[in-house]
Amino acid sequence: SLSDRLQESLKKIRGQSVLTDENMEDMLREIRLALLEADVNFNVVKEFIDHTREKAKGQNVVGSLKPGQLVVKIVHDELVELLGTEVSEINVDKNPTIIMMVGLQGSGKTTSAGKIAKYLRDKKGKKPLMVAADIYRPAAIEQLKTLGETLDVPVFAKGTEFSAEEIVTEALEYGRTNNNDVILIDTAGRLQIDERLMKELENLKAIANPDEILLVVDALAGQEIANVAQSFNDQLGVTGAVLTKLDGDSRGGGAISIRYMTGVPIKFIGTGEKLENIDLFYPDRMADRILGMGDVVSLVEKAQEVYDEKESMKAITKMQNGTFGLDDMLVQMHQLQKMGPLSGILKMIPGMPKLPNFSDEDSAAKLKITESIIYSMTKEERRHPDIITLKRKERIAKGCGMDVAAVNRLLKQFEESKKVMKMMGNIDPRTGMPGRPK
Ligand code: GDP
Ligand code: MG
Repeated sequence: SLSDRLQESLKKIRGQSVLTDENMEDMLREIRLALLEADVNFNVVKEFIDHTREKAKGQNVVGSLKPGQLVVKIVHDELVELLGTEVSEINVDKNPTIIMMVGLQGSGKTTSAGKIAKYLRDKKGKKPLMVAADIYRPAAIEQLKTLGETLDVPVFAKGTEFSAEEIVTEALEYGRTNNNDVILIDTAGRLQIDERLMKELENLKAIANPDEILLVVDALAGQEIANVAQSFNDQLGVTGAVLTKLDGDSRGGGAISIRYMTGVPIKFIGTGEKLENIDLFYPDRMADRILGMGDVVSLVEKAQEVYDEKESMKAITKMQNGTFGLDDMLVQMHQLQKMGPLSGILKMIPGMPKLPNFSDEDSAAKLKITESIIYSMTKEERRHPDIITLKRKERIAKGCGMDVAAVNRLLKQFEESKKVMKMMGNIDPRTGMPGRPK
């Protein structure tokens, strides 16, 4: 995965303090391969890499980030920017709003029409009508009718002896008289782009004058996605895309291809066969998914938000001169708790061992217990836990209403905590990435 590849490259150049042409190319090569593996179109990848290279070069002189971190950050930000930076809702202000679903056969048009009808009814209080304009397979009409029955959403359908143009013309009239404020037109698809289909879709567009033409794309279609997106957009001028089957193996690289080729927003994603398996499209989440380093990226952000660099530096200094005690551990534990479940954070950092102790949701409760034990110790004991003999342990346990085993657990935790502190000392608080502080 990209994550593994980037970790490798990062390792290679971690020790280096400047971004040279050479280590930069190393990183970019890995990113290129990973994007290709995520099924981003070849040409798109090439342009993306070129663009990223230019960006990175421009930023070389600024700031104190390490080269690897810089490149990861640039790639992530570029991905988000490319994917659209913000959620793009479907446009349903008009009455009626007319939405035309287009795409290849099997991409998920009919299913998505049902999902969107349900979404608009349940979430936006709309009264949708679905139109069965895929007349080439009788099964397609039945499929939409069944969907309509399941959802309790009306479906306008006629026999296969009518043309799609006739059906849509009548359906618009029907929708108006029935006060449907959203009209979803489910069209036919082919296995490949084909001129007759495009002609028919153009006709339907002219008749329906749709407010949204949503291109439905199967995320599993891989390299083909770029072609499909370009052809449909050139011919019809789509207004948005629906990326389906993201519940499968796809990393979602197709989202990049769609955006790159058409520039239109991705409005929905399909995450399963069920009618509730639909989501709005969040560019940052998708960037994380494609990059495969979402955890690292969110860690960076979280760490930047709450990490108290001064406190940590104090603790690290104490570690170094051997004066790190139980009170200092408490301070650190509070800080780590602010950052979220520790295991979650450690898991995000490459090379970090797992520390189950503060990991659970009840870590707050555990912190309370730890506190009460430490508070029943003398100052001297807190500063030099080595002096805590069994006799002292018994006294401490009594003082806080716990048993000796609890005191032992705490002291063990202290040893662990020292290890964590050592590692925290290796994390650059500005980036959350491992790397020795200067
Ligand atoms: P159409 O030919 O474009 O109308 O495609 P359909 O809506 O008939 O969908 C084709 C197949 O893909 C059906 O078996 C759907 O259940 C399935 N499908 C559609 N969307 C999704 C999705 O988001 N996830 C999964 N797993 N399957 C989907
Ligand atoms: Mg269909």
